[in-house]
Amino acid sequence: MDIVPGDAETPAQYTLRAGEQRIGLNAHLGASLRLVHTGAIHCVHCGRATRKSFAQGYCYPCFKSLAQCDTCIVKPETCHYHLGTCREPAWGEQHCFQPHVVYLANSSGLKVGITRKTQLPTRWLDQGAIQALPILEVDNRLQSGLVETLFKQVVGDRTNWRAMLKGDVAPLDLPAERDRLLSALDQELASLKQRVGEQAIGTLTEPPVELHYPVLESPRKVVSHNFDKSPEVSGRLMGLKGQYLIFDTGVINLRKFGGYEVDVAIE
Ligand SMILES: [Zn+2]
Repeated sequence: MDIVPGDAETPAQYTLRAGEQRIGLNAHLGASLRLVHTGAIHCVHCGRATRKSFAQGYCYPCFKSLAQCDTCIVKPETCHYHLGTCREPAWGEQHCFQPHVVYLANSSGLKVGITRKTQLPTRWLDQGAIQALPILEVDNRLQSGLVETLFKQVVGDRTNWRAMLKGDVAPLDLPAERDRLLSALDQELASLKQRVGEQAIGTLTEPPVELHYPVLESPRKVVSHNFDKSPEVSGRLMGLKGQYLIFDTGVINLRKFGGYEVDVAIE
């Protein structure tokens, strides 16, 4: 599913990719939608058929060999490129040795996160954040992990997806939170800068961003659909938030089912 940001008047635009089909979902809010998983799963990287999906859409050989499936992607502070053990050094240079941003976001409350600079604002939309604020820019992914580790002492890095989908999330003053956290971590950040170089970690002064989603009605109780348990998911499409489709019958996280072949019917 592709998500393009909207603006103050227009919510984010969702496009569902199903085989060769591209379906603009915003136009179908309120309509009956049926998704049927055919049983086929194709690796999102190499396309080969796989009986089971690993790491949200990869076949087992790709899962075990690609740098993008290594644990250091989820825990960037464990980057091991400098040891000469990167699974794909060229991929690492292209994706990890690029400017990264440390941000604050409000998806189900305050959280810290990191991403490659070019992944914004997509990353925030994927998480269903309603507000976000870039706070620091660093030279590479490893450094972003080291900074995030410091922040995790004082702020969470997870989204409570049920709360995010229910939509009862109070707005936050993110610039005030940034100032509070930067001053709480002042000493730790100073010693990290001594380690990695003063220029490697820069403070950003960008304004906070607000993100809007097309949701007719948020679910009061969150029940999740799962193609592995039941191949057919149908209902009235009530909204789109993060990587979730919100039906009147429950929600489904399409990110989880990358590579799943799905037939789509809209009534
Ligand atoms: Zn593969």
